[in-house]
Amino acid sequence: MRFYLFILLFFKGLHGYAQHAAPVPPGIQRLLAAYPQHLKGYKDNHVIWKDGSKTRYDDGRMKTEEEAFDSTDLEDHMNALIYEPGISVDTPGYNCDPGTLRCQEFFMKMYGHSEAEVRRHLVPVTWLAPKPGRTKRIWVTSVNGVHRHLQAVANELAARPHLRPYVTDIGGTFNWRPIMGTNRMSPHSFGFAIDINTSRSEYWKWDHRDNWQLDSVEINLQWRNSVPLEIVEIFERHGFIWGGKWFHYDTMHFEYRPEMLPAPKSRAVAKPTRKAPAVKKQ
Ligand SMILES: [Zn+2]
Repeated sequence: MRFYLFILLFFKGLHGYAQHAAPVPPGIQRLLAAYPQHLKGYKDNHVIWKDGSKTRYDDGRMKTEEEAFDSTDLEDHMNALIYEPGISVDTPGYNCDPGTLRCQEFFMKMYGHSEAEVRRHLVPVTWLAPKPGRTKRIWVTSVNGVHRHLQAVANELAARPHLRPYVTDIGGTFNWRPIMGTNRMSPHSFGFAIDINTSRSEYWKWDHRDNWQLDSVEINLQWRNSVPLEIVEIFERHGFIWGGKWFHYDTMHFEYRPEMLPAPKSRAVAKPTRKAPAVKKQ
C-alpha cells in the first residue's frame, strides 16, 4: 500500500468538497491558463471546451491508489501531487510521482483517441544529431504548439554543446502504447513526450529488470540521476515536466504539461529563433 499517496488523496477528497463552494478551483484556473486553445471556462464542476462539450472536474470519489490511477478525474490530475519546478532537486519522497496521475479522457480529447487520430497531428521538429553540426527530424504533436515548444528546447540545447551527449541518440517521442505493466496509455501515445539519450539516463524499471514488480524493490528503491539539471531547466521553461522528479525515476523522460508549471505568461514564449544553428540534414 502506498500510504503517502493514499493520505494525500484522502485529504484531497475532503478538500474537494470544500472546493464546490469556490467559484473556480485553483486546479481549474491552472488548466484554463495552460490550454487556452481548447478550454473556455468552468461551470458546475465541469470544464467547458471550446466545442461546447464538457468534462467533469471532480467525481467526488474517495479512491485507493489503484483506483486513482485507473480512473483519474481532472481533480486528481491537478491536485494529487504538486510538481515542483526548478533545479533544486531533492530525492523524491516515497511514492511521490507528481504529474503521473493523468486524466486519460482529457488527453484523448485534446490529442486524439486512437493512434491514427494522434498521428494526424504529428509534425517534425529539427533535433540534434550525435555528430556536431548535424540535425535529424523527430515527430511530435502540433496540438497545443508542442512542436514549437520542443523546437525552442532544441534551439537552446544546440547552443550548449556540452549538453549534446545527453540529448542525442534519443529514446523516442511518439509511441502509441500502454505504460509497461499497466492498461493506461503512456504519455508518449499522445505525441507530447520525449525520452532523451537512454544510455545517459536512468529508469527505475530498467535498474530492476527482472524484479521491478516486487514490493521489496519498490520499498527500497534508490533514486538516481545523471542528467544535468541545466537540461531540466530548459525543458521546464518551455512547459515540460521531468520524470527525474519522480520517486519512480525516469530521468530520460520529459512531457509537455504546462498545467503543472507556472503560468505560461511567466515562462519564456517559444519563438522560432532567427539564428538557427548552421547545420546539415542527416
Ligand atoms: Zn518517456
